[in-house]
Amino acid sequence: MKKRFPLFVFFSIILLSGCQDKSLYTNKQVAMGTFCEVVSPDKNSAKIVFTEIKRIENLLSKYHPESEISKLNKNGKLIAGPETYYILKKSHEFWKLSGGAFDITVAPLLDLWGFTDKQCILPKKDQIKAALKLIGSEKIYFNDSNNMVEFTVPGMKVDLGAIAKGYALDCAINKLKESGVKSCLINLGGQIYCLGSRFGRPWRIAVRDPRAEGGTTEILDLTDKGVATSGDYEQYFINNNKRYSHIFNPKTGYPSDSGVIGTTIISERNLDADALSTAVFVMGKSKGREFAKKFPGIEIKILEENNQKRGGNE
Ligand code: ADP
Ligand code: MG
Repeated sequence: MKKRFPLFVFFSIILLSGCQDKSLYTNKQVAMGTFCEVVSPDKNSAKIVFTEIKRIENLLSKYHPESEISKLNKNGKLIAGPETYYILKKSHEFWKLSGGAFDITVAPLLDLWGFTDKQCILPKKDQIKAALKLIGSEKIYFNDSNNMVEFTVPGMKVDLGAIAKGYALDCAINKLKESGVKSCLINLGGQIYCLGSRFGRPWRIAVRDPRAEGGTTEILDLTDKGVATSGDYEQYFINNNKRYSHIFNPKTGYPSDSGVIGTTIISERNLDADALSTAVFVMGKSKGREFAKKFPGIEIKILEENNQKRGGNE
């Protein structure tokens, strides 16, 4: 019987604004496998946000048997709806731009290492080698004329865990704006968007220190901006004093070992922030910073294991 390791799960961002304030409504619900918290002076905000995020979850979650992504994973082929097709193509674009570091075809690795069912194991080398045959976004075939997506190797699967939350937030923010909501903070499992201001002042959030329990690395004051973080402290297990996190290097089949322990990306677009935080985590500090230059207007902060020095584009 294989040894199972306990999986640790933590949130990377702490809300500092609003929760105690009686003139703000705070609502929390389980969504996309995590908690979604909505803070707003407008009491309709939470319902608008939860409804939209649920809609995206039903399209993109690999845990929902009826989602388009589950159908693609099951059948190896899908005529996708416009939103699913858009996200799959966007993921392909991030894969290309990141030189393969961002790759949604890592799903078989998450299954093999036990992250999918939260029962982690250390696989054998030959199991990893076998799984690597299924990895690589060049093995996805797209037909733009009819939105068809097809896996060219049987057994392939995709996992949108590094991009779907960002997209869902963008959709929720659009719905809020359409409804005339001017001020709202959404925290979707550590991915945050700050719409407008909090009574004329920026929303205030803190980014968790990856290694000091209860500590924070910095305080961010934000207006009309999203923040995404990726870290080896969010979901991981430990074996023989070595930490194995849920973010994989698609080339090796092992959890990323780039020396980066945490990335923070600030962007107007949550989709970009989400994908970039994962990509830069895998690429490492110097390659990651070069890659991030392709996205004007974003702010990036990188924390490394050695001396935990911060390396942003400051
Ligand atoms: P989280 O959403 O847990 O805060 P991330 O946005 O960094 O953190 O996403 C991590 C998730 O992305 C993993 O749980 C997995 O589903 C998926 N993933 C892991 N490695 C990669 C990778 N190299 N490229 C794309 N997605 C990945
Ligand atoms: Mg991400």
